[in-house]
Amino acid sequence: MYQAKEERYDQMIYTRCGKSGLKLPKVSLGFWQNFGAQGQFSNMEQIVHTAFDLGITHFDLANNYGHPYNGSAEENFGKILANGMKQYRDEMCISTKAGYEMWAGPYGDRNGSRKYLIASLDQSLQRMGLEYVDIFYHHVYDPDTPLEETAMALDQIVRQGKALYVGISNYNKEQTAEMQKFLAEQKTPFIINQPSYSILNRWIEEDGLDQYAKENGLGLAVFSPLSQGFLTDRYLHGIPKDSRIGKGNTWLGDQLDEKMLAKINALNDIAAKRGQKLSQMALAWCLHNEAVTTVLVGASSPKQLADNVECIRNLDFTKEECDAIDAIVQE
Ligand code: NDP
Repeated sequence: MYQAKEERYDQMIYTRCGKSGLKLPKVSLGFWQNFGAQGQFSNMEQIVHTAFDLGITHFDLANNYGHPYNGSAEENFGKILANGMKQYRDEMCISTKAGYEMWAGPYGDRNGSRKYLIASLDQSLQRMGLEYVDIFYHHVYDPDTPLEETAMALDQIVRQGKALYVGISNYNKEQTAEMQKFLAEQKTPFIINQPSYSILNRWIEEDGLDQYAKENGLGLAVFSPLSQGFLTDRYLHGIPKDSRIGKGNTWLGDQLDEKMLAKINALNDIAAKRGQKLSQMALAWCLHNEAVTTVLVGASSPKQLADNVECIRNLDFTKEECDAIDAIVQE
């Protein structure tokens, strides 16, 4: 039976999510890839145990995570919980989402209807063997469902006791503000937005979402902070067979051209001067933005995750370092 390390809270830093009472670790573990039915269960379990032993208390899932079928990541997480982690349920913050294509027909399609969100969360709870999740997100803005309907469904989910807090993901500043208005009217505990963000992807700064979140008491959990592996040493010396690109992700593969490799190498040099790995600098850089509560990282091995947590040892950047990073990205 798994027993967590006693020293698990010695190193991690926890930050309040927006103006809520909920604290999140600076580094959180995401289940989008590497946790599906195709993967090796013992590796997944070790990644989760390593995470928890290092003070990662926040686990980010979604209804559709996992290959080859939607929901397999939640199933595997449910197995890991049943296999000895359930005893720590109150030390964990578990998130899930609904919004993208999930099941056949008009009710499991990409949307934000009350019909879809409520049914989907019930399915997620069953797959994970939980009575409630800590955060439930609407996964992606849906221009065809009235936002008020999505907001009321999120509120109902909280009133039913199936989620403690709610969030949204892939909503820009205007969409976030509109949702916040509806949720404030109902006094729903809306505390977080989940956008993409990294050294190579700054849309939240251009859109003003980060500033908005800071000024309006919302936390940000940012996804793909390592740009799916580009901002690590994964591709510095070729394409490893067991990497995302090596496993056949052609969308990512197409982006790994000479120009990208030159950027990665130049960023790697700055990281080395800071005494960090590129992955650690990339995570620290996201956390340097005061609007960011936590970085959601993916990992295909326990070692990658342990490396990533070390980013918290140096979260400060000089102006010169920031300028040098910006210059490389803009090249
Ligand atoms: P990352 O940018 O963190 O990329 C993770 C990948 O980077 C790993 O699978 C691994 O690649 C590589 N990697 C990680 N750490 C290291 C390391 N120390 N050294 C070398 N390589 C490393 O994030 P993801 O794209 O996986 O997204 C993270 C999470 O964000 C998801 O799991 C999910 O929870 C959330 N997310 C949310 C979305 C949304 O719409 N709300 C969309 C996408 C993600 P490899 O597998 O090749 O080893």
